[in-house]
Amino acid sequence: MRAAVVSAPGVVAVEDVPDPSPADDEAVIAVSLCGICGTDLHVLDGDYPAVSYPVIPGHEFSGTVVGIGSNVTHLRPGAQVAVDPMIFCGSCVQCRRGATNLCLRGGGLGTTADGALAELVVVKAAQCEVVPPDVPDGWAPMIEPLSCVVHAMDRIGPVLGERTLVIGSGAAGLLMVGTLALAGARVAVLERNPERRALAPAFGAVATAGDLDELDDGSGGWDLVVDASGSAGAIALGLANLRRGARLCIFGVASPQARVEISPFDVFSRELTIIGTTSVRNSFRRAADLMALGELPLDLLVGDPLPLERTADAMERTRRSQGIKTRIALGATEGALGSRVA
Ligand SMILES: [Zn+2]
Ligand SMILES: [Zn+2]
Repeated sequence: MRAAVVSAPGVVAVEDVPDPSPADDEAVIAVSLCGICGTDLHVLDGDYPAVSYPVIPGHEFSGTVVGIGSNVTHLRPGAQVAVDPMIFCGSCVQCRRGATNLCLRGGGLGTTADGALAELVVVKAAQCEVVPPDVPDGWAPMIEPLSCVVHAMDRIGPVLGERTLVIGSGAAGLLMVGTLALAGARVAVLERNPERRALAPAFGAVATAGDLDELDDGSGGWDLVVDASGSAGAIALGLANLRRGARLCIFGVASPQARVEISPFDVFSRELTIIGTTSVRNSFRRAADLMALGELPLDLLVGDPLPLERTADAMERTRRSQGIKTRIALGATEGALGSRVA
């Protein structure tokens, strides 16, 4: 099969690689669409922990089941699925307490195992979610980033009526804005890029600005700040503008080297809460159902997909924040690939 392979940090090329075959509890998916996100850039740049090269990136995808292992009974070839890309052991102390995204031996498709920028990808069958019929064509790869938002909402807790600031309105930020608004928050958006900022009202933002001062209504700070930019400067700004008793959620992926200065006295005396949230935990099914409600205008996030051969290009577009969510079309169909998988 054809696949985009990162052979070493900084080097990505489309190559012929062997077709994968499923173990007893696995399924092989013929990928139809795969979104590119910041994590794929970290894998390309060599600054994502625990990646061993060569690796095929890509973890936001949908496709058709074309092969199943001998123990798989709940999936049939031909099913249209999106896949929770987390890898977890099920037996470590974190998995046993239900925190599979914090697995001590965990990883993910597209980072520690081959991902979906390929014609075929092998996955745990139990982590395939049949795409609800109400989800329009082309939206299913965004179930994965939306499931990260749903998990973040689990971490944040109730937001009804809260004055909320989201920093950064790229794809993940806009999904966060839309979900917070559906959950009853009063959401303002800080985003420097005017094109991205302009999309936020369609997701329910009540105010947008490129400069925080423009959002100051004299009410004394925010009940909740969600950073979706991954920028240390933005996180420091959010922290400095919290109300007493407020929460800061770190949702964007910062560089592992980034540092933010925190005053323990400030956190103590103002009773601030700093919330980390990572990946997906029991949130994939709910994200699929949330998407099927049709309340999030996801067509605004995507343009025409690019072919696999233009993966390097797609990564650079993502790096330059060109467009919102860049996707690769693998163009696979069951008919074209079904015979290739045992
Ligand atoms: Zn992602
Ligand atoms: Zn584990």
